[in-house]
Amino acid sequence: MTAHYHILGAKQFNRTELEELFDSAARMEDRETWNTDPRFAGKIMTTLFFESSTRTRLSFESAMSRLGGKVIGTENAAQFSSTIKGETLEDTIRIVSGYSDIIVLRHTDIGAAERAAKVADVPIINAGDGAGEHPTQALLDLYSIRKECGRIDGLTIAMIGDLTYGRTVHSLSYMLANFQNIKLLFVSPENVGIPSYVKHYLEEQGVAYSETENFEDALQSAEVLYQTRIQKERFPSIEEYRKAEGRYIINRDILSRMRKDSIILHPLPRAGEIAPEVDEDPRAAYFRQAQNGLYIRMALVEKCLTF
Ligand code: ASP
Repeated sequence: MTAHYHILGAKQFNRTELEELFDSAARMEDRETWNTDPRFAGKIMTTLFFESSTRTRLSFESAMSRLGGKVIGTENAAQFSSTIKGETLEDTIRIVSGYSDIIVLRHTDIGAAERAAKVADVPIINAGDGAGEHPTQALLDLYSIRKECGRIDGLTIAMIGDLTYGRTVHSLSYMLANFQNIKLLFVSPENVGIPSYVKHYLEEQGVAYSETENFEDALQSAEVLYQTRIQKERFPSIEEYRKAEGRYIINRDILSRMRKDSIILHPLPRAGEIAPEVDEDPRAAYFRQAQNGLYIRMALVEKCLTF
């Protein structure tokens, strides 16, 4: 099998690669270049989604189309693919490899993208593997921070909410380890704290972090508030979910106590943890962040297809 450039997890990126990707994404913002690159004409992307998605799937499909390629796929692979007949992920990937030039996979199981990459004869992009990782979200998060704050080094970043099941938090924490003098503040209810394997990695990499249940600690210190949804669908019981829900809500009152130079990010969808009244504030960067997903994913597809 040919060697391919897969996107499987956040730890695979070093700083040089990240900076290169951000520069490519900035280049992709120029609409004049869309649909003009002959390298992608006739290339086919398959999007294979076993879990629900709005932004990730549609921005990947839009990215491929903007580059001039084509898209096939299924948004409900759990029901509308042969998985329901008992086909293994490996077999599905082997087959789909023969039909396309790149596969974007979202799956319920941690490690699914790695399994897929072992049998795929095309690049695999991990678009979320259960409660594991979501590396392409972390890339667009960092790209957004760089655009909004003008830098990444030296920032204090508070990650708030469901840090156990929130895969975007895991990937973003890993990726931030590439930058200098980062401080991470993990704000969560006690039953959904940041996993110890993420903390071990940060310790190995020498990244400063602290944990708290108190939202107020973040308001004065953090330049970036990374708010997240409590991942209701991943809890073992509704009682555990109830313990975590509704604890941290960004509203007008919180805005009035946040730093003037801070920004609010959220991977979205939101489920009540940012009040709509916040949207008009210039620090609310989450819709701009989602738009950046298109540019980052165009840059990623370019990288994978031209490796
Ligand atoms: N859209 C993100 C994800 O797929 C965040 C979320 O669902 O809360 O992980």
